[in-house]
Amino acid sequence: MESQSGNSGNHLESTLRENRIFTPSEEFCAQAHVSSLAEYRERYARSIADPEAFWAEAAGELDWFAPWSRVLDWQLPQAKWFVDGKLNLCHNCVDRHALGERADKTALLWVGEPTGEERRISYRELHGEVQKAASALRSLGIGKGDRVAIYMGMTPELAIAVLACARIGAIHSVIFGGFAASAIADRVNDAQCVAVLTQDGSWRRGTEIPLKQTVDQALEQAPSVRHVVVLRRTGTPVAMQAGRDHWWHELVAGADAVCASEPMDAEDPLYILYTSGTTGKPKGLVHTTGGYGVQTYLTTKFVFDLREEDVYWCTADIGWVTGHSYVVYGPLANGATVLMYEGAPNFPDFSRFWQIIEQHKVSVFYTAPTAIRAFIKWGDEHVEKHDLSSLRLLGTVGEPINPEAWIWYRDKIGGGRCPIVDTWWQTETGGIMVAPLPGAVPTKPGSATLPFFGVEPDVVDRSGKPVPAGSGGLLVVRRPWPSMARTVYGDPERYRKTYWSDVPGCYFTGDGARRDEDGYLWLMGRVDDVINVSGHRLGTMEVESALVAHPKVAEAAVVGRPDDLKGQAIVAFVTLETAARAAGDLEALKQELKRWVAQEIGALARPEEIRFTDVLPKTRSGKIMRRLLRELATTGKIAGDTTTLEDFSALARLREDEES
Ligand code: ATP
Ligand code: MG
Repeated sequence: MESQSGNSGNHLESTLRENRIFTPSEEFCAQAHVSSLAEYRERYARSIADPEAFWAEAAGELDWFAPWSRVLDWQLPQAKWFVDGKLNLCHNCVDRHALGERADKTALLWVGEPTGEERRISYRELHGEVQKAASALRSLGIGKGDRVAIYMGMTPELAIAVLACARIGAIHSVIFGGFAASAIADRVNDAQCVAVLTQDGSWRRGTEIPLKQTVDQALEQAPSVRHVVVLRRTGTPVAMQAGRDHWWHELVAGADAVCASEPMDAEDPLYILYTSGTTGKPKGLVHTTGGYGVQTYLTTKFVFDLREEDVYWCTADIGWVTGHSYVVYGPLANGATVLMYEGAPNFPDFSRFWQIIEQHKVSVFYTAPTAIRAFIKWGDEHVEKHDLSSLRLLGTVGEPINPEAWIWYRDKIGGGRCPIVDTWWQTETGGIMVAPLPGAVPTKPGSATLPFFGVEPDVVDRSGKPVPAGSGGLLVVRRPWPSMARTVYGDPERYRKTYWSDVPGCYFTGDGARRDEDGYLWLMGRVDDVINVSGHRLGTMEVESALVAHPKVAEAAVVGRPDDLKGQAIVAFVTLETAARAAGDLEALKQELKRWVAQEIGALARPEEIRFTDVLPKTRSGKIMRRLLRELATTGKIAGDTTTLEDFSALARLREDEES
């Protein structure tokens, strides 16, 4: 096959070949919603032949107050789904279960970080709580279209706050509870929020994070906010500003117990949410009601193959899109029992997650590759002392998962028995786009496999022409889907330019991918992070996976540094397994790792330089920020946006590592 690399920046070279393949057990297939590859392929083909009919049928599974007149009105880049339809997502997530057979089923099973703290909230109770919270917001004069910032920890009231906003048609903007005051102020100002819902403090790894105090600082620079509602969680004393600040429990105690759901237009905004900031300054994406509700509902049902008796645990914080779609809206719309854990995975010790799974008989577990790599680093002994036999399905999201981490997840957590759904999607897509249906699609470690029904991804060059199977290119989506973001808040031009102008007629994801002979998609990393070595364009994923496959390597990030001879040279930042760092000759290990990569995927990908470090810079959602490493490797300094950086000491430590 002819290489087109090095000219127009179209093409990515792919060198990694992963041949392992895992088929779901007969037992799993027998009970699955979709139980064979042939059935998946047949239903997928039908969904693509007539996507409007497909999505309309799915929408019929939700409660609507008024029917839609048209399924889709599409004028690139503006989509309207379920035109004229009226519904309310809080009603769909709560009322229809609370007023039906699931009234006494546990909706939220909450585990606090301090051991022993737990709450079980049935759908009936959730219905009551949500109505009181919604009435409380209405009593402050908050209503349809108002923007409400939510800056809370992972308490049940966070989910209740989100649902209460949806109930009255207020647009929520959840800000992850680890952000600093300036990040809150930016987001509150961007959306001109009228209220902030927060709590006194939250627990994280045994220490208290002072949320209310941080909100107070943020609001010095955010004049649009008229009301602050404060949940008492840790009991720490906080300053309350008269006229502006209200205690949650006092407001709710005086609130009307009945609060009707606002009939929302399918295209009314549901929320604003900012991206993780992996590639630059975060974008505030706007999601609307009908299409978002339909796709999150349906993907949860099929991708997690939900069953009535499941105990479903997605470890994402509600501050990220994964928490919006797969802690709150998707699973609750399905009437699932959702486990929510307040704290850190390593508190009070490294086995906390496994202890929770054992104790609560979790059956579906959905987490991120960054967490899985941390579990591996912490050591198998923490896993092995727990009985994880209640698990039947595992999922991942957020970054490409290295095949070695995938295999570990399957063996150690899934006991070799649970299918793994590697789900590719984005804040912008609102819902899962590419993922195996677990009873139907055989999985390959590191591949997100095949598209969800009604979704048409492609791998193309810049002109929009599909690249041949086996070579890498740009991942695009060829047609609109219901849960797509409708705009960047206040900046439709940025929306058009970022997503709808690079590849003619297509949505451009910003990610590189390869499609193999079976049509499986393999994500190769961000197109912005592509490294150009002697005219060969390499994605970051494959080189990093080769490094992670070495027994002494825990995690790796590779970036390109300008090089007179090759165009760019590969610099690899590597964290070692704890034991490897302490013992042995690090110089020799650097040489060994360079040889290892050359051997695994070819001399072309051989790193020019290896730097050992004990931390990699990550976003607060746990993703590696290669752009900062690239700056460091190139100029020795960092000037880019660091507002979403998780741990500022990481940069200082990286510089020290460089000097040592
Ligand atoms: P920003 O857009 O601000 O740079 P971000 O892209 O990290 O931040 P998110 O919307 O949280 O913000 O992440 C979506 C991205 O995460 C995808 O575009 C992709 O790069 C990566 N991703 C998510 N899931 C997967 C997956 N299963 N496999 C590979 N990559 C994934
Ligand atoms: Mg992104």
